[in-house]
Amino acid sequence: NSGVADSKNLRVKLVLLGDSGVGKSCIVLRFVRGQFDPTSKVTVGASFLSQTIALQDSTTIKFEIWDTAGQERYAALAPLYYRGAAVAVVVYDITSPDSFNKAQYWVKELQKHGSPDIVMALVGNKADLQNNREVPVQDAVEYAEKNGMFFIETSAKTADNINELFEEIAKRLPRVSS
Ligand code: GDP
Ligand code: MG
Repeated sequence: NSGVADSKNLRVKLVLLGDSGVGKSCIVLRFVRGQFDPTSKVTVGASFLSQTIALQDSTTIKFEIWDTAGQERYAALAPLYYRGAAVAVVVYDITSPDSFNKAQYWVKELQKHGSPDIVMALVGNKADLQNNREVPVQDAVEYAEKNGMFFIETSAKTADNINELFEEIAKRLPRVSS
């Protein structure tokens, strides 16, 4: 099982996929550092951050988070990036139907080439921009259901549902029975 250390302390590789500009890096920074920096620039080189959370049953999950630095533009590099990932977080921007289409492309890609037991989450980010919404919640709910994914809308800006996203992922991870 990819990334499982032991039954009480799991270490999991998590990758983020999605169009450039949907807020992947901001989601990671909000989760790991509790910050939102609207002026942050694209980092050069892949960035790697980790964050550990504890579940109620005292299991700890250490997420090793792989965030792309613009490689999302190079589809050919993607398999190197998501190889061995236990979790894929596929992000779109609720104000951008294009980014929702691109998210569906990534889901298909992961279904074809990702680990068979990968946990996939579909994330509609920028939920604070309700007035500019162009992707209906219902479309995403239906798509996620059809593809066996967990779905949530988040805002890296306001922090809405960011911790919930990672907690829900943690609950869905396959466990080693002891
Ligand atoms: P990435 O290319 O997917 O990593 O996207 P970034 O994290 O670099 O974010 C792209 C832009 O979207 C930046 O200008 C962010 O400030 C902005 N952004 C990210 N998340 C949010 C959000 O939840 N709400 C709003 N309003 N803007 C966001
Ligand atoms: Mg980024």
